[in-house]
Amino acid sequence: MLIVKKFGGTSVANKERIFNVARRCIEEYKKGNDVVVVLSAMGKYTDELIRMAKDIHEKPPKREMDMLFTIGEQMSVALMAMAMNKLGVPAVSLNAFQVAMHTTSAYGNARLKRIDTERIQTELENRKIVIITGFQGVNKYDDYTTLGRGGSDTTAVALAAALRADACEIYTDVDGVYTADPRLVPNARKLKEITYDEMLDLATLGAGVLHNRSVEMAKKYNVPLVVRSSLNESEGTVVKEEVKVERMLISGVALDKDADRISVIGLKDEPGVAFALFDTLAAKNINVDMIIQSIGRHGSKDITFTVDHTELDEAVRVLKENQSRLGYQELLSETNVAKVSIVGAGMMSNPGVAAKMFESLYNERVNINMIATSEIRVTVLIDVNDAERALRAVHDAFGLGE
Ligand code: ASP
Ligand code: MG
Repeated sequence: MLIVKKFGGTSVANKERIFNVARRCIEEYKKGNDVVVVLSAMGKYTDELIRMAKDIHEKPPKREMDMLFTIGEQMSVALMAMAMNKLGVPAVSLNAFQVAMHTTSAYGNARLKRIDTERIQTELENRKIVIITGFQGVNKYDDYTTLGRGGSDTTAVALAAALRADACEIYTDVDGVYTADPRLVPNARKLKEITYDEMLDLATLGAGVLHNRSVEMAKKYNVPLVVRSSLNESEGTVVKEEVKVERMLISGVALDKDADRISVIGLKDEPGVAFALFDTLAAKNINVDMIIQSIGRHGSKDITFTVDHTELDEAVRVLKENQSRLGYQELLSETNVAKVSIVGAGMMSNPGVAAKMFESLYNERVNINMIATSEIRVTVLIDVNDAERALRAVHDAFGLGE
């Protein structure tokens, strides 16, 4: 068997944990398996690198940022290879260049295009454990790129796909994927299995366990994933195409406090207005999520939408700059809002799921600002001060707790 194992920053944060990971990998290797290990930078080292960069330049060039980032993962893999060597097992560390991992050019947000597997395969044939830097790649200019924060998960899945691995295990500091964040919802339950689509929604909505692009890629190449803890032996959660166990209506509840709301008031009620508005934002690479438009009255209408907190200032600036062209009267923004979502493939065949969510919010006297739905999720935007209480109420209403 060929197994790809990915360990996040907390799992390699210090010497003891590095040896702990080394031992777990060696155990697998000694069973006769081929083992490929993907690592993130130690602890919060990536944040530390950002701090150092910002100390020199408040807006550092993205190319140089990626150049800097790569040392974090490179440090982890080299130290891990040394630890395995110390434990008497042959191991070799490789960075994105040595592999090579080819990506698109966008610094800070590159996408993997192709992975050369020859070098890895040769090392495996020589019975070495191969330890590879997560998060980083190389573009057509032979420059380093990175895949976006949390991108090591995606490196692991891509490697598993390219190497046709038998398993891809993502080791983290939680035991698996929960019905809700256990820090906010104490009776949250660990899921045995979850579908790619549900996981993708949960990952995107801020569940924080997996990089959402890694889930996208796992679905595309049908790589079964296991999310489990590096600190204990508990079983973890399997992410796959279809889930066999008795389906619950809802698989999870997610809270995203990073959403902000913008309302554009008094737009003309005529064709092309929404296009002009969102095209203006898209041109600045600003991602918009929930959108509602009021019904036109007396020739005027309003459009409200959410953006990520990090993009609020830029969005407001761009819209103000274009006020006369877009032809609106007033711009309002609100940061004290949060998104609560329910996610579950079970809702496709069951009416009344949204109503049940709204009922539980009503019971808590939580007012809903905006609503968005897809086949497998319902999201509401509410006051941030109600958010955690709402999360628990919805979680209970669907009987998700233990
Ligand atoms: N070290 C990188 C980060 O902190 C990549 C990762 O952890 O996956 O974002
Ligand atoms: Mg992560």
